[in-house]
Amino acid sequence: MTLQSTTLRVRGLLIAALCAASFSAHADLRILACEPEWGQLATEIGGDLVTVKTASAPGQDAHHIQARPSLLAQVRRADMVLCTGAGLETGWLPVLLNRGGNPDVRQAPGLFMAAEQVDRLEIPVTLDRADGDVHAMGNPHVHMDPRRVITISQQLAERFATLDPDHADRYRQQQQAWQAALEPRVDAWEKQAASLKGLKVISYHRTWAYLLDWLEMTRVDELEPKPGLPPTPGHLASLVDKAGKEQVGLILYQPINGDKAPNWLASRTAACAVELPFSPGEEGTDTLTSLYDTLIQRLTHALQACEGGKA
Ligand SMILES: [Zn+2]
Repeated sequence: MTLQSTTLRVRGLLIAALCAASFSAHADLRILACEPEWGQLATEIGGDLVTVKTASAPGQDAHHIQARPSLLAQVRRADMVLCTGAGLETGWLPVLLNRGGNPDVRQAPGLFMAAEQVDRLEIPVTLDRADGDVHAMGNPHVHMDPRRVITISQQLAERFATLDPDHADRYRQQQQAWQAALEPRVDAWEKQAASLKGLKVISYHRTWAYLLDWLEMTRVDELEPKPGLPPTPGHLASLVDKAGKEQVGLILYQPINGDKAPNWLASRTAACAVELPFSPGEEGTDTLTSLYDTLIQRLTHALQACEGGKA
């Protein structure tokens, strides 16, 4: 064997090895999820076939995120950008996608909008800027209803299958296994939440609309005078009357809202304030399943404690 043919052989082997390495790297679908709930769902459905990064931290306000350079780099490398959609990220996602320089994720199939896969509540009849930060496509916070999340997980598995057809069967199997584990829990949660049925609440933002819809609770009003605007003294004063007339039982808020306005209202009415998580990864939750668990536990315990008499 001549020296030259040996060099060629070695070079050939090297190229083969490099191809194998880049192929196995491509076997991973790289997902950039806008919010932790979708990052968590992608991990459940994709398993070890996906690598998931998340653009916002648990408990962060996903209406407002900075399009920082590290996020742009993640957009550039992503095979899929997975967001809530329905207008939730209008303040920052278009900028991120425009500057990210990755045409694959600027539209389907590389762009997947979870809330747009299901029916949405609160689609406004008319649109008026004077009404505040209203979501024109309806309430985007759909991950609060596990039944809708099951529908989204089916669509997501199909989308993974489109982007990575070699593993289509595995995505479908993993989705079916996840759904089969969740469905009996949904039944159990509905039984556990029976005491909440018909309960009237005031919530800080329209955060839990889908949870309330699922568990048949009624939201009488919000602490925000208009979506996205902080509570004003005048609006809070009007809620004291309303909470009394409507016999509101609980006042719901997220850690990012702060407890000042909820506690102020609770101190002037028969209702009790309860802090609730919004996304998996917040205290007491790490998966979507434990998020629903925690939400229902906190609500039922708060109602029980409140009916037992306020301190
Ligand atoms: Zn919102």
